[in-house]
Amino acid sequence: MSDIIHLLPDSVANQIAAGEVIQRPASVLKELVENSIDAGATFIQIAIKDAGRTLIQVVDNGKGMSETDARMAFERHATSKIKNADDLFALRTMGFRGEALASIAAVAQVELRTRRQEDELGVLVEVAGTRVFKQETVQCDSGTSFQIKNLFFNVPARRRFLKSDNVEKSHILNEFYRIVLVNTNVSFSFFDGDDEIFNLPASNNKVRIENVFGKNAKKRWQQQLLTIETTTNLVTISGYVGKPEYAQKSANQYFFVNGRYMRHPYFHKAVLMAYNQMIQASESPNYFIYFDVDPQTIDINIHPTKTEIKFENEQAIWSILTAAIKEALGKFNIVPSIDFDQEGAVDMPVNVRVENVRPPQTNFNPNYNPFGSTSYKRPNLDWEQLYGDFEKKDEPISSSIDWESNADLPITPSFTHQEQQQVIENLETRAENYQYKNRYILTGIKSGLLLIDQHRAHTRILFDLFLNQIENSQGISQQVLFPEVLELSADDALFFEHILSDLQHIGFEFEALGNNSYNVKGVSSHVGTGSVIDLLLEMLDKAKTTALDPTASIHETIALTLADAASLKSGQRLSTEEMSDLIDRLFACANHNFTPDGKKIMTIFTQDELEKRF
Ligand code: ADP
Ligand code: MG
Repeated sequence: MSDIIHLLPDSVANQIAAGEVIQRPASVLKELVENSIDAGATFIQIAIKDAGRTLIQVVDNGKGMSETDARMAFERHATSKIKNADDLFALRTMGFRGEALASIAAVAQVELRTRRQEDELGVLVEVAGTRVFKQETVQCDSGTSFQIKNLFFNVPARRRFLKSDNVEKSHILNEFYRIVLVNTNVSFSFFDGDDEIFNLPASNNKVRIENVFGKNAKKRWQQQLLTIETTTNLVTISGYVGKPEYAQKSANQYFFVNGRYMRHPYFHKAVLMAYNQMIQASESPNYFIYFDVDPQTIDINIHPTKTEIKFENEQAIWSILTAAIKEALGKFNIVPSIDFDQEGAVDMPVNVRVENVRPPQTNFNPNYNPFGSTSYKRPNLDWEQLYGDFEKKDEPISSSIDWESNADLPITPSFTHQEQQQVIENLETRAENYQYKNRYILTGIKSGLLLIDQHRAHTRILFDLFLNQIENSQGISQQVLFPEVLELSADDALFFEHILSDLQHIGFEFEALGNNSYNVKGVSSHVGTGSVIDLLLEMLDKAKTTALDPTASIHETIALTLADAASLKSGQRLSTEEMSDLIDRLFACANHNFTPDGKKIMTIFTQDELEKRF
């Protein structure tokens, strides 16, 4: 029998390797730009077309390659960066496996032009699907230029696997951020088609952060970033953390070690620890943290595309990191002093609240005072006192105070269908409405006393309305007299374009000004013209988080954010007609019991309950 084991031809072996290293246009960009940095470039110019599908070009002013090296670079395991296994433990370069160019050349058409400073002529190499088509001397600038055309031209399955242009572009931008935020002594320019979307001069880290993300006016980087700085014999940690009040759902969070981006879930927890109790569980702080350690004490050789890195002294560094952040927060007096006189439940972070919610009580306990505070300090049923406490905080009740969070408030079990019918019937008899504390609408119904939270009720009404408008394009626009300008970062702008038509359906009108800026010329007739820019930024922020979650609906997020912002606030006085109108419209909604995000809109004190109290 003949031998059956044989070596795979290079073209096949390279395609297999490429499958690991090159997954999408963003991976190509990352590998090329890292090579430019390894080559000592101080200026790197990037251009992409069609989200990198048809072209990714990276031009640098680095040290260039000799004619032989230019050809060799495409061989697998060809690298100039390490010579033996020991070098692996002293790495200061981004690349070292010598796999990237071979992998790229296996799945795309590649044109390389390169010249070393000392050479008079450069060299042009054209490779596609691992085959070299051309190699000749040419005149070119010193440095290196790579053009990668028609990625996956020979691997249709991979091409089909690519996502929409917007998704691919956001992957590209993410890779770009991870590189430019740490290589701040290098200048970058980035063209998407004909638009230069980034032009980043060499600068310090902080200025670079502002240059990259600065267009998001809401983040006010200048004000929000606190410096951290600590040096021990194990590690030097430097960088910036955001003040707690700027925490958000989709925060910018970056760790770098020895000049390379890394993911580190364990250190991420250390950061959150330092913010303990200062931010809500659903939000998370912005941070840009740079570690410098002896390369011997980390292992980056886990996987070619993985960004996880193993540290020898993980636990010690955890403590150092937490301490450094706490110090920064403390120094700026960010750590709140705890006032034990306050009703704790009100300010509790969301996660705590959820655990505290009592299951609905169905058994009536005659000694149970539903209106008392946790410590039962108030023996008398005193509405003034009860609600007065909340009023004093004069916070926007809609966002942070959740009635259900006060564990001692009576929690009526959800309505049965019968009860709902009853409510509707009773309302038809136009019972007297009464507005309590400019926040609740009280109305007597046959089965008892109905309380409706006006803000939540209106949120539900507007949500249903906006959702319908998005889907049927019926919004009414209201012209703005003095249009404000919405300035966005490049990735926000990408996303914004994605939801632009939804917003137009609701009645917004925008005029593109170029450079990721838009004039807001018209707003939905249901949205006040007050702080429309803040509103849009908030909406964008939330919708972006939703976009990453395949089970969430962007339309609903848009509708909810706008509804929440545009709805009646607590504290707003309503006339009797307005109250009736609100109740009518609420009960016309298919789900009038809960807000779209699951908060209870109304509750009933049953006749029974009331009677037992006397
Ligand atoms: P690695 O970066 O792991 O060494 P690559 O396949 O990415 O492997 O690159 C192979 C080699 O090609 C590098 O080691 C380097 O010598 C050379 N090279 C690649 N890109 C450049 C560049 N922009 N400038 C100079 N040399 C480069
Ligand atoms: Mg490389």
